[in-house]
Amino acid sequence: MKCIYCGSEMEKIKTSVSASWGKYKIEIEGVEPYVCIPCNHKVYDPEEAKMIQEIARGYADSELVEKPVFLNVEEVSDLLKVSQQTIYNMLKDGRLSASKVGREWRFNRNAVERLFAPQAVAARGNTISNSDLDIISSLLGE
Ligand SMILES: [Zn+2]
Repeated sequence: MKCIYCGSEMEKIKTSVSASWGKYKIEIEGVEPYVCIPCNHKVYDPEEAKMIQEIARGYADSELVEKPVFLNVEEVSDLLKVSQQTIYNMLKDGRLSASKVGREWRFNRNAVERLFAPQAVAARGNTISNSDLDIISSLLGE
């Protein structure tokens, strides 16, 4: 199998996928995606991708995980795995909305969560790549 981004031959590698939420983190070991070594693009087989998605979704939906209604810039950047500067940029160009309370921004957690493309995020081990950010902005454009 060849990488769709750079055309390199991909290798099947045993790895683990982690997803974090607030102070919690889960790690799924033993997944075997095809990995492109040069650009780190991963392709999971459909059954593994589905399993990872279901675990991540069930975890995010769990009522046992404490979820504050409002988040600050630091928490949103942590949640989306992007820099705080990216969050400010997204605020500036309208991809993210928030309310200013005093000197601080407050984001509604539900609105931030809707920005997630769960399939894309789960398949990449919960790190957000540039292509995820494109998905996020296209979702926001709707
Ligand atoms: Zn590649």
